[in-house]
Amino acid sequence: MNLNARLNLVKSFICISTLLFHAGNGVAAGEKTENLILITLDGLRYQELFGGLDLDVLKATTKGKKVAETKSYKQFWAESPEVRRNKLMPFFWGQWMKNYGSVAGNPKKGSSVRLSNRLHFSYPGYSEILTGQARDDLITSNDKILNPNPTALEFLRGKLNLKQKEVAAFASWDVIGFAVQHQSGAVFTNAGYEKYVHPDQDIQKLSQLQFEMLTPWDTVRHDEVTFKFAMAHLKTYRPRVLYLSLGETDDWAHDKRYDRVLAAILRFDSFFNELWSWLQSDSQYSDKTTILITTDHGRGDIALNWHSHSAQIKDSKNTWLAVVSPDSLLRGEWVGGDPVVMNQIAATLCKFIGLDYSEQNPKAGKPIIQLFQ
Ligand SMILES: [Zn+2]
Repeated sequence: MNLNARLNLVKSFICISTLLFHAGNGVAAGEKTENLILITLDGLRYQELFGGLDLDVLKATTKGKKVAETKSYKQFWAESPEVRRNKLMPFFWGQWMKNYGSVAGNPKKGSSVRLSNRLHFSYPGYSEILTGQARDDLITSNDKILNPNPTALEFLRGKLNLKQKEVAAFASWDVIGFAVQHQSGAVFTNAGYEKYVHPDQDIQKLSQLQFEMLTPWDTVRHDEVTFKFAMAHLKTYRPRVLYLSLGETDDWAHDKRYDRVLAAILRFDSFFNELWSWLQSDSQYSDKTTILITTDHGRGDIALNWHSHSAQIKDSKNTWLAVVSPDSLLRGEWVGGDPVVMNQIAATLCKFIGLDYSEQNPKAGKPIIQLFQ
């Protein structure tokens, strides 16, 4: 054996030892992650995420016009699903998933992400994400009640010894202000049509404007407002933990406005681009921030029920999860593998920052181990 071969052998041994050390140690991850961002896109189907425009749904929702003459068709249609999804989410696919992260949940690639709650509507889904446990016995409606269980956001604030504004949740839907915490005031929240106090004059104006430029829904404001507030908060108060909860995809779908669902997804993609450009330009966040993006439930799979979701609609339990992290080496789509369960997200977030969520809730799902290999 020559010297090079010996050196390589020593290197291999060190690598294997390091891997074994990390695999064996419960909380060895989070080496680079110092900040966490959770993003949820309410009821955004895996069908659009992985396949872009769904022609059956567009046909079912186009009236008085040929499908090929619609704006949605002209803007988003292509024969291949890869081209279609790139048209819908060019930054997500062209930048994030290519260079910085990975996404699970495409059934066509044998990957599955699913809810463990059996209700398949919003509050149970958000609670499962935020607490790491389905509680179908306690959360049975979308009523505005504080979460019956402590959340990972509350755990993170305590363990990282953060001020209230350093664990912040911005949401378009008012119920999220309740779902993120089990003790009122544990997390900084701004949710639904709610004034946001901020020193910047443009933000003050937008805070007033939200009450004038209304959506069709009483409980959900425009995602544009939510995103702008979240960005302002990020730049000024520099949270270590930020939750951005966007909602219009769900409400437009319930209203059977597929054109608006597609437009909302395209806007989300531009939000990601803007968020990422800022994060990467800032020394507190650049290459030190883990971002998890997911949804609270799926929806129906066919033109008849794509707009809805419930315990009776089979495909509503199927979701997806994307992760952009300096501590995860996976890139692109997951192929095959064990199903991911949504109750694993809370513990996964905590593990990225080096914390063991089972300290708070031993019954919560365990961290998604594939992300740390
Ligand atoms: Zn929902």
